[in-house]
This record gives sequence, structure tokens and C-alpha cells, in this order.
Amino acid sequence: MLSQDMLQSLYERIKASRGKLLNSEVKQLCKSLGMDVEALMLALLPVAAKFAKPPISNFYVGAIALDRNLEEFGDLYFGANLEFAHEALSLVVHAEQSAINNAWSNGAAKVDLIAITDAPCGYCRQFMNELHNADELNVTLPHKKTTLRHLLPEDFGPNDLGNSQSVFNSEPVRLQAIEHVSDSLLKAASRSYAPYSGNYSAVEIETEHGNFVGSYIENAAYSPSLSPLQSALSQMELAGLSIDECRIHKITLLEIEGKENQLDVAKAVLNSLLYEVELNHVKVRLV
Ligand SMILES: [Zn+2]
Repeated sequence: MLSQDMLQSLYERIKASRGKLLNSEVKQLCKSLGMDVEALMLALLPVAAKFAKPPISNFYVGAIALDRNLEEFGDLYFGANLEFAHEALSLVVHAEQSAINNAWSNGAAKVDLIAITDAPCGYCRQFMNELHNADELNVTLPHKKTTLRHLLPEDFGPNDLGNSQSVFNSEPVRLQAIEHVSDSLLKAASRSYAPYSGNYSAVEIETEHGNFVGSYIENAAYSPSLSPLQSALSQMELAGLSIDECRIHKITLLEIEGKENQLDVAKAVLNSLLYEVELNHVKVRLV
């Protein structure tokens, strides 16, 4: 158990780095606390849950994804659930999605282990099944170590739809801008994962505290897909910001011309805001 003061100071540190602790910091913490990385992840779960914004359920969920990245300790990516008070429940981001999206957005090579404050719901088990190493993914809960395969036997996954790609194992697509788009947005779209709809898309949110980019992550079961706007909002949440407390200046949604399917989701979220936000919708073509 870490003291409340220590948890609070780690929360501030992780918030400042937008939801991650990289190998050198993880190593330093493990050594100073006399813990291995898995024990550290369990000890840090209350910090992950502090990022949650659950105005509907009031149920705080935290998750931490580990990419060992050939290091002795590895990089930690935090995640928490994110709910929208006046919008459809289907817009909610689950903590496991948030942590995996955070790892994905930050260029992690893979997720070897995910620690979660509570057992993952069926939706999240399906979301995690899209990872390229789903057969080897370890799941650590406060009182139990298990695997995704144990939690999700007889699974339905990418191969069942004839898709040989998976999250963390997909080639970036080449995109051609038709109109002006930022490099960060174009890059986020090119590395989005959209093997089912072909709508390689991304969102950039411009706020008074900097910009946040999110990439689309699809799923073989379709429903647990994470929209690019959810992805970007979740990254904002991990910087300690929310759409209620931080003023959004502009949202830019980038989609593939002829494959668009994200505009209604973006409008729904904007409708829940009490202030005007400019929504910029740009299209690109696959090369
Ligand atoms: Zn879930």
C-alpha cells in the first residue's frame, strides 16, 4: 500500500505526462518501493481510477497496460472510464479501452499485461481480443491473476472475418490530403485501425491546454470499436482535463472520402456541451 500523499504526488506526475510512466521512472519506483512491476501496477490502480469521470454510474474504474518493450521493467499506460452525462451510454469509454488506446496512441509496441481495478466486462474482453497477442495477454486483478483466453474462451475475433491484421500488428495506411490537415492528424489517421469499414479516421481536439489526437480502433464484433473522438477525449481525460472543465476551441474530424461514419458521433458529443465549438470535417483519400 502506498500512502495517500504518495498516490497524490504520483497522480500529479502521471497527469503531467498525459497518462504514462516510462521505463526509467518505472524502474526507479520499483527499486525504491522494493516491488516488481506487476506489484507496482496493482499499487498504482487507485491512481488510474482517479482519472475516471463517471457521472452516470459513479463507478470509478482504473486500468494500467504494460508494454515490456524489451526492457527490464517496461512502460506503463494508464486508463480510466469516461462517461457523458447527457449522451447515449454507447459513447462511454471503458477503462481497459482507455489504457490500451493510450498505449496505442503513444506508439507502444504491444500490451503484455493489463491490471484492472475490477473484472473486465464482456465488452472489454471483446475489445482486448483484437490485440495481436490476445492468446498470450495476461490480466491482473486485485485478488487474481488470469489471462484473456481464460476470461474469453471460444472467442470470435479478426480471423473469423478473414482479417489477418490486429491492433499493434497493422501496417499504417498511406493517405493523401485533399485539403489542408495538420501532420499530427494525418499521422493519427494513417495509423488508425479500421480493417472492417475502411474509414481510417482521426480526431484532433484543440483546447486552451494544448491539442489531443485520437485514432479510430475497430473491433471484429463492431460494437466495442473506439471512435476517434472517444480516443481523443480519453487522452484529454488522462491529462486531467474534461469537456466540462476545459474549454475546447475546435474539433477536427478527418475521414476517408466515401467511407465517412463518424460525423454523427462527433455532433452528439458537441450537442452535450454548453458552449459553441467549431467542428471542422476534412476528408482524405487512400493512396
Ligand atoms: Zn468494460
